[in-house]
Formats: sequence, structure tokens, C-alpha cells
Amino acid sequence: GAKQAGRNAFRFYTADMNAEALKKLELEAQLRRALARGDLVLHYQPICEAAGGRVVGVEALLRCRDDGGRLMPPGEFIPLAEETGLIMVLGEWALLTACRQACRWQQAGWTLRVAVNLSTRQFRDAQLAERVRQCLAGSGLPAALLKLEITESSVMEDAERAAQTLAELKALGVAISVDDFGTGYSSLAYLRRFPIDQLKIDRSFVSEVTHHPDSASIVRGIIDLAHSLRLKTVAEGVETEEEQIFLREAGCDLVQGYLHARPMEAEALERWLATREAGGEDGTG
Ligand code: C2E
Ligand code: MG
Ligand code: MG
Ligand code: MG
Repeated sequence: GAKQAGRNAFRFYTADMNAEALKKLELEAQLRRALARGDLVLHYQPICEAAGGRVVGVEALLRCRDDGGRLMPPGEFIPLAEETGLIMVLGEWALLTACRQACRWQQAGWTLRVAVNLSTRQFRDAQLAERVRQCLAGSGLPAALLKLEITESSVMEDAERAAQTLAELKALGVAISVDDFGTGYSSLAYLRRFPIDQLKIDRSFVSEVTHHPDSASIVRGIIDLAHSLRLKTVAEGVETEEEQIFLREAGCDLVQGYLHARPMEAEALERWLATREAGGEDGTG
């Protein structure tokens, strides 16, 4: 009867919950093992001027090698790392590693500003500015060559606190970019209240600019709004020449996406840069 079905439903529900909890525990253990083994990897994706194609920076994107040697993309482990607090260790590692790498590149003659993603939990940390200062000092990277990517939700969570944290970061001389702009719930008021340098237009809009007039309008609107507030714009996820032409004509400052290059390991990026310097541009400038 109904009672029986209800009892079964309950049993399935808890079985599912257990499976879910087990998967999480396994992933957390996996992450801790990878950390202990030194199996975290940063990939770097070029960021280019929309007009001219000059490479001005890179975004550092975290990957984690699992027990079997497969590179896990961040979507698979960042949410759990955020939930468990492990993100604090991962984020600190990413920040220091990216700063050291950018410093080595500068010494080799490549002046690239490196963008590092910050999770909400890292942004909430009252010691954030001090940690960033230590990473800069420890790596030798000039603050002007570091950009921090934060999300709208990080900023909106506690506006008072965010204003304070951003002021501290700005005082160090690092640049601040709002990632995935346009996808979060936020008040546009924060754009003039907070010391932000760049808006990063989310890929979901960029990938539609050539097919959906509404997305094209949104992107043009974001670029104009940014410029009127003296902010730069970066378009993420640029995959086609048509998207690039649209963005350039709309006045977007910087572009990042598979059209130029996928995220890659540091050495691969060096080869890619060397090929471009040697005149091997792919003409997507
Ligand atoms: P994000 O910061 O918005 O990074 C851009 C994502 O778009 C990257 O995915 C990148 O590989 C991908 N992408 C770039 N160009 C294209 C393109 O043309 N087409 C398509 N389809 N995708 C493109 P990835 O590396 O998987 O990272 C996903 C997200 O994970 C990031 O989104 C960021 O939110 C987070 N993440 C990555 N590294 C870190 C980190 O060190 N710390 C924190 N807290 N989050 C990170
Ligand atoms: Mg980002
Ligand atoms: Mg983004
Ligand atoms: Mg994104």
C-alpha cells in the first residue's frame, strides 16, 4: 500500500544521499592526495588586445591530476573544495605559483599580466590582502602584473566588507576584474562604489553575439557602460572570427578564447609565444 511505497521511497532517498556523501568524501580524499603529491597544475590562456591581437596577459586556470593521472577540470573539484574549505590551500597555491611564473616570464622578456581567480571564500578572508602582498613579495612579481578575478556574488555578499577588501587590494597596486559579468544577481551601483578595473563579459553572451540580437545588445551595453565608468572590458570564450570582429567593432578592449588559444601548460605557452613573435600569427589579430 501507500505506506509501503512511502517507506521504500525513504529508503531510496537515504541510499542516494549516502552515495552522494561517499562520492564527496572520495573526491575530497583524492584532492588531499593530489595536494600532498604536488599534483596541482596551472594552465595559462592568453588574453589579447581585440584590436591588433597583441598578447597582454594570461589567465591562470587550475587543474588537478587524479590518482589515475587524469587532469580534472576545475568544475569537477572547485565546488567541493569551496564547500570543505580546501579552496583556501588550493587558492593560495594557485596565487603563488602564478606570481612566480609571471615573474619568470618577465625575466625572460615576456611582460604578461597574470589573472588569478579568487573564490568567494578567499575573498571573504580578512587576511586576503596580506596573503596577496606576501605572494608578490615572495615571488618578486610587480603588483602591476597581477590581476585578481572576483565574481559578482563575492562582492554582493557583504558590500561593506567587499569595499574594504578591494581598497586594500588596490592599495597594493593589483588590478581587479569582475568575472562572468552579467550572470550574477547584482546591483550595478557597486560598479561606481568599488575600485574595479575591468568587467569580464561572460561566455554565455559572447557565444551568442553573432546569432542573437539580444545578446549582441547586452554585450554592446556592457562595453559602453564599462567605458563610461572608465573600466576596461574583456570578452571570454571567443571562438570564432565573426565574434571577434563584432567585439572589436563594439569597442571591446581585450579578448580571450579558443580562437586565439586554449589554456596550456607554461612551457607550451612559451612555445606559442615564441611562434607568434617569429611572425607565425594566425591572422586572428
Ligand atoms: P572562468 O574564470 O570564467 O574561466 C574561463 C573558463 O572558460 C575556463 O574553463 C576556460 O578554459 C574556458 N574557456 C576559455 N576560452 C574558451 C572558449 O573559447 N570556449 C569555451 N567553451 N571555453 C573557454 P576552466 O579552466 O574549466 O575553468 C572553469 C572555472 O573554474 C573558471 O571559470 C573559474 O571560475 C574556476 N577556476 C579555475 N581556476 C581557478 C582557481 O585557481 N581558483 C578558483 N577559485 N577558481 C578557478
Ligand atoms: Mg576567470
Ligand atoms: Mg570567466
Ligand atoms: Mg566563465
